Amino acid sequence: MKIAKLQRQWVLLNTLVILPWVSCQRLDAHRSSHRNTEFPAVRPRRAISFRNDDTRRAAGLFGDYDSAEVDYNPSPSRGRFGYNRDFYFDYSRDLPTTTRRSLSLVRERPRSNEAAGGEEFSYREKDKNGPSNWDKIAPQCGGKYQSPIMLNTSSALFVRNKRPLQLIGQTNLPQSIRLQNDGHSAKFTYVWRNGERPYIRGGPLKTKYYFEQFHFHWGANSSVGSEHVLDFHRYPMELHLLFYNALYSSFEEARSEVDGLAVVGLFYELYEVNDEPLNTWTRFLQEIITPESEFTIQFIDTFPLYDLIGDVEWPYFSYEGSLTTPPCLETVTWIVSAKPLLITPREIREFRKIRTRNGPMVNNYRPIQKLYNRRVYRY
Ligand SMILES: [Zn+2]
Repeated sequence: MKIAKLQRQWVLLNTLVILPWVSCQRLDAHRSSHRNTEFPAVRPRRAISFRNDDTRRAAGLFGDYDSAEVDYNPSPSRGRFGYNRDFYFDYSRDLPTTTRRSLSLVRERPRSNEAAGGEEFSYREKDKNGPSNWDKIAPQCGGKYQSPIMLNTSSALFVRNKRPLQLIGQTNLPQSIRLQNDGHSAKFTYVWRNGERPYIRGGPLKTKYYFEQFHFHWGANSSVGSEHVLDFHRYPMELHLLFYNALYSSFEEARSEVDGLAVVGLFYELYEVNDEPLNTWTRFLQEIITPESEFTIQFIDTFPLYDLIGDVEWPYFSYEGSLTTPPCLETVTWIVSAKPLLITPREIREFRKIRTRNGPMVNNYRPIQKLYNRRVYRY
């Protein structure tokens, strides 16, 4: 009897000791996933239908900083443990948003993308398909991880231990460049020989991301045009370079995956000192003035990404967001430079000559979206 009682006490004691230890282990596992700079070569198979708020919200569990400085690698939702929904599902917080309605909406097949264009959406607020109604075209446009947003130097979390951001192949020349007026922007898609496609790595990115295309957003006049707003200032133009995660075989495949895309955004500031051309590639824009037209820039006239943006050495902001046109997929790690590029008035006028079926292609920028539960990092 006495021995049996002792055994019971031993078992009870063990349980009391082991239980808290197990939960600590989980805690550490989660924390270490934040610091793990080498993303494990596990290909996350998460379709867009799973990109509800749970994993991203879980990222906030260990993110209550009082200080404006952090020294770990952000993008916590991308950690290995972030993919286990059972592990992080917080019924009290997540159930209300995971309603049947929102799930069925999210599962709906995306109808368009920023690259393909052609979707019936408008940038004019008075139109019935204007920005405030984009969620009726694509439900994700009403999500809580939308772009663009306000970027504020004073409230961003400063990252101290940063890995350098690198653009590999920035001087590579493509075979040709396909320039398109896609109804919403002027888009440059490069055609590469095998192995020459540039890629970006480092900074907030855990893997390498291949370059796909770039395009622009601009205003009817120079007081507006950029999508992001930096320290309450809207620039006359913003460049977006789209990259897709090398874990996936194409941009189209990657764009609906949780870690599928990285977009590098750069502002343009007007350079009015003299009329010396700064961006000679703007001469091609006259070839796509007609709505839905396209033009091929032959090899002899192609230019490397370096000619567009120079060295990738600027300070930047990073946050988790979306494509800024329907279907507004929330699969983008944004990297927005804090240092603007320069453009002359004559060059920006070339953009304003481009036309859509409904008039000049101008003010093709989406209004600022709410930040909700996100953090913006400053590198
Ligand atoms: Zn864009």
